[in-house]
Amino acid sequence: MLKSTLSIIASGLFLISSCTTKAKKTEQPMSVHDSHSYAKPEEAVVKHLHLDLNVDFDKKQLSGYAELSIETNGKTNELHLDARDLTIDSVWADGDATTFQLGKQQPYIGSDLSIAIKPTTKKVKVKYSTSPNAAALQWLSPEQTAGGDFPFLFTQSQAVLARTWIPIQDSPGIRFTYSATIKCPANLMAVMSAENDTTLHNDGAYTFKMPQAVPSYLMALAVGNLKFHSYDQRSGVYAEPVTIEKAAYEFEDMPKMIAAAEELYGPYAWGRYDVLVLPPSFPFGGMENPRLTFATPTIIAGDRSLVALVAHELAHSWSGNLVTNATWDDFWLNEGFTVYFETRIMEKIYGKEYADMLTVLSMGDLRTTIKEMGPTNKDSHLYLDLKGRDPDDGMSDIAYEKGRFFLTAIEEAVGRKRWDDFLKKYFAEHAFQSITTTVFIDYLNAELIKGDKALAEKINIDAWVYGPGLPANCPVITSPAIQVAEDAAKSFLSGAKKASEIDSKDWNTHQWISFLRTCPANTSLAQMEELDKAFHFTATNNSEIKCEWLMLVIESKYKQGYPALEDFLCHVGRRKFVKPLYEAMIAKPDGKEMALSIYKKARAGYHPVTTQTLDELLNYKQQ
Ligand SMILES: [Zn+2]
Repeated sequence: MLKSTLSIIASGLFLISSCTTKAKKTEQPMSVHDSHSYAKPEEAVVKHLHLDLNVDFDKKQLSGYAELSIETNGKTNELHLDARDLTIDSVWADGDATTFQLGKQQPYIGSDLSIAIKPTTKKVKVKYSTSPNAAALQWLSPEQTAGGDFPFLFTQSQAVLARTWIPIQDSPGIRFTYSATIKCPANLMAVMSAENDTTLHNDGAYTFKMPQAVPSYLMALAVGNLKFHSYDQRSGVYAEPVTIEKAAYEFEDMPKMIAAAEELYGPYAWGRYDVLVLPPSFPFGGMENPRLTFATPTIIAGDRSLVALVAHELAHSWSGNLVTNATWDDFWLNEGFTVYFETRIMEKIYGKEYADMLTVLSMGDLRTTIKEMGPTNKDSHLYLDLKGRDPDDGMSDIAYEKGRFFLTAIEEAVGRKRWDDFLKKYFAEHAFQSITTTVFIDYLNAELIKGDKALAEKINIDAWVYGPGLPANCPVITSPAIQVAEDAAKSFLSGAKKASEIDSKDWNTHQWISFLRTCPANTSLAQMEELDKAFHFTATNNSEIKCEWLMLVIESKYKQGYPALEDFLCHVGRRKFVKPLYEAMIAKPDGKEMALSIYKKARAGYHPVTTQTLDELLNYKQQ
C-alpha cells in the first residue's frame, strides 16, 4: 500500500518459514499465532479458493459460494475461518451438508467461523452473502464516479478486511491460489488481482485464475465502466472511459519501470503488470494487488510528477507480494523494503537528483512523525507490538520511511554492489514465503554481516529494529532543488522578495510542496493573497500541491480558499489528504463546526476505511 495513515494490521494464526538462515521454498513451515485471525492453520489450512459470486448493485451485495481446498493434519474435525458481517447460508464438506458455528463478532476481527469437517476432508463449500456495509467493499453510485453514468464497486482487503467479503483464513502468513467466476451487470467489466482478459464481456460473466499463491489481503475485485489501454505485451492501464486517455499518458513510463525493477532484483514473477485507476474515493494512494495495482486518480497530475506511486506499487511485486510480512508486527518488511526499492527504480529512470528530492521530502515527514510520537515511543521501533490493537493503528512513516533509511544505512555500510547481490538472493530464496523480522535478521547476519563485528556495530541492527527514533547512523540525503524552493520561501516570508520575483518557472511538484511546507502556520493573509495571485494555488488541479496549500488556508484562515477546501474534501477520499485537513480544522478554536459541516456533505462519498478514521477523529455519530 502506498503510505497513507492507514494503520496496521492483522495477526492470527499463520505460517511462517522456519528461522534457519537458508530458507528454502520447500521447508516445512511452522505456525505462529496471529492474534487478528481465528485460523488454526496447523490443524487445517486453505490451499486454494474458488469464488463464484454475483454482483448486485441494487442490494449492494455479493452472494454465492466460496469453495476452499484444504489440507489437514489428519486429526482435526474443525476448520476455522475468519468472517465479519457475512451471512452464512449453508456449508458442505466434500459434497455433504455439514454444520458450522459463527462465533460472537468482535471489533475489527469479526467472528470465528468454525466448520465441522473430517480429518480426511479435502473441500469445503460455503454459501454466503455480504452485508451492504461490508468494510472492504465500496459501492459507488454513478454520481460518485468520474464518468457519472454507471455504478462502480471496488474492494480494499488490507489489512483484515478480506473477511468482510470472503469467508477465509485472513492472515498474511497463509497463502493460497485462487480462481473465480464473477457475474455482474452486462455493461460493466469485472477485474481481479488475477489473470484478466482486458475486454468487455457482453453477458457480464468473467472468469479469473490466480496461479501464484497469495495471502488474503491481496484478494481484490473491481467492477465498473472500464476501458483498457495497452503499453506492451505485459502492461497497461484500466480506467473509466473519461479518464483513460489522461491515465494512459501519465503512466507511460510503466514498461521502463518494470524493466528497471527486474534489472535490480530479478524477474517479475506475476505475468502481467497493469494499473487500475479508481474513482477519487479510493482511500489509499495505491494498493499492490498482484497483477493489478489499484491506484488513486489523485496521482494524475498531467505532468507525470506523481508516478513514484506506480514505482512503489510495482516494487511490492517483490517486497510484500513475493516475500510477505508474516505478521503485521513485521509490516516494515513489506513497506520499508518497498520504499527503498521504489527509490532505486526512480533513481534508475529519472536520475539520482530526482530521487534525492523525493527522499528529502520523505525525511521531513518521518522527522515530524517521530517528533509527534516522542523519544521513547515503542511505535517508533521497526518491529511493532500490535497485539490487542486495531491492526489499522500501525501504519505510519516508521514502517515506510524508517524502514527505508535502515536499508539505506546498510547499503552505505557495505556498498551498493554487495547490498544488491544480497537483496537479489534474499528475494529469490524467500519467494512466495511469509517471513518474520527475526528470519530477515538471521539471514542478514548469515549472508551479509558474516560475523564481521565492526560491520555489525556500524549497521547497529538493534537500534533500528528494536529501538525508538532515528539511530545515529541514519543516512543524510540532501537535495539542491529542494533547497532552492525553501530558500525562495524564506526570502518571500522575510519580505526580501515579492512572490512575483521568485523564479519558479522550472519548478516541479516536489519543489512546490517544499516551498509551501516552508511557509509557517502564521503566514499572513496579505502574504496568502499575494501567493495565490502569483501562483494560483487555490485553482491548482495537482492534488499534492493543493493539499499543502489547503493546510495553509486552514491555518491562516484564508477565507478565499474555503470553497476550494470544501470542494476538494467532497471529491477526494484519499485518507492521506483528507485526514490531516480535518485534523487541522478541528485544531482551530472554532474549526470543529466547519469540519463537521463539510464532513456531513462529504461522508457519503468516502470509503469505509476513511469514514472509520474520520468518524473517530470528529466524534461523529451517524443519524
Ligand atoms: Zn506500500
